[in-house]
Amino acid sequence: MIDFHVLAKEYSTPLYVYDFNYMSRQFEALKEAFKGRKSILAYAVKANSNLSVVKHFAQMGSGADCVSIGEVRRALMCGIPAYRIIFSGVGKQDHEIREALESDILYINLESDAEMQRVEMIARELNITARISVRVNPNIDAKTHPYISTGLHSSKFGVDLNSAKRMYIRAKNSQYLEPVGIHFHIGSQLTELDPIREAAEIVADLVRSLSALKINLKFFDVGGGLGVRYKNETTIEPYEYAQAILSTLTALDMTIICEPGRFLTANAGYFLTKVLYEKQNGDKRFVMVDGAMNDLIRPSLYEAYHHVNTLDKEGEKTLADIVGPVCESGDFLAKDYALPMMQHNDLLVFESAGAYGFGMGSNYNTRGRSAEVALEDGKARLIRRRESFDDIIANEREFLEANE
Ligand SMILES: *Cc1c(COP(=O)(O)O)cnc(C)c1O
Repeated sequence: MIDFHVLAKEYSTPLYVYDFNYMSRQFEALKEAFKGRKSILAYAVKANSNLSVVKHFAQMGSGADCVSIGEVRRALMCGIPAYRIIFSGVGKQDHEIREALESDILYINLESDAEMQRVEMIARELNITARISVRVNPNIDAKTHPYISTGLHSSKFGVDLNSAKRMYIRAKNSQYLEPVGIHFHIGSQLTELDPIREAAEIVADLVRSLSALKINLKFFDVGGGLGVRYKNETTIEPYEYAQAILSTLTALDMTIICEPGRFLTANAGYFLTKVLYEKQNGDKRFVMVDGAMNDLIRPSLYEAYHHVNTLDKEGEKTLADIVGPVCESGDFLAKDYALPMMQHNDLLVFESAGAYGFGMGSNYNTRGRSAEVALEDGKARLIRRRESFDDIIANEREFLEANE
């Protein structure tokens, strides 16, 4: 059992706490599911990009799926070898492409023909051959929240099958491009297997038709998206997930690349916040806490649910909105949540906060971002200090002084 009171006292709130042993178990479970096949788990760094978290996965042999050059730098800094790093993302800038090519990462996932032309041009300038993969949009409804659904043509992600095929043919004929992989990622927090299997089938068929054109791809990159339990969702077992994918790859000798983010970190994380006040507006009960949407935006952004643990607090429960101090009506961490009466300084623990939590944080309302703490083998250690006022204004201060 994690002693949240001790952690809150030691590190203060709002605070993120991550159970590194839990992350290890998730990583092992997924790795195990793909055993018997060549596979790379490439941790999706954006889910939780704290350097200590990335290093933890690096030490387990993880690769990295990155969506900016900043994330590529994080991965490299943490000891993930370049040959296990993938650069994805729907709009890469020239300087990012150049640095990724110079770093000799495994490949760049392309999301449009126009992007392929930029990559080709930059590779020519550098006089190297760029390893590439195309993100195919299989036009599959992933049946998840629209904001995290990416596999339909109406989303900005990937290219349709015919365009993908044309891109591969062009890439094969280019001296500066080497097609090595194929990629899809139909959405996040997937809890149904059928859309994944269908997408894999469509993409595997494309691989076969490319191979008939003598375009032989090595990497079958299935993206991430494996869902986790926040409330009472039925989730997909890693083994079934792997089987669904592998069953589409008969007679294809390819290395599977899987890019899990949420699956590895979400349920490893806790967001600790303290009660400031209780308040009643007519019939409506509010519990004001020191954490806010700038710390944990998932409830506001996706109507996400986080289980709230009130620890040893007892008493009759009534419904309340748990809200932060930020000046936005959208600043809530939970709506209509059954809670006992709370007092000043009571601790609330938001569960499943290890993915897309801290990383989506901001300094809105000049609030410093939370500290982050790792728990490993029963010991706690700080892995990011709380942001101070000086940290927040660091990039502005000089301009104020220059104008005096
Ligand atoms: C965000 C993302 C992932 C990780 O998604 P999860 O749902 O966190 O597993 C993997 N691949 C790509 C390309 C992504 O954009």
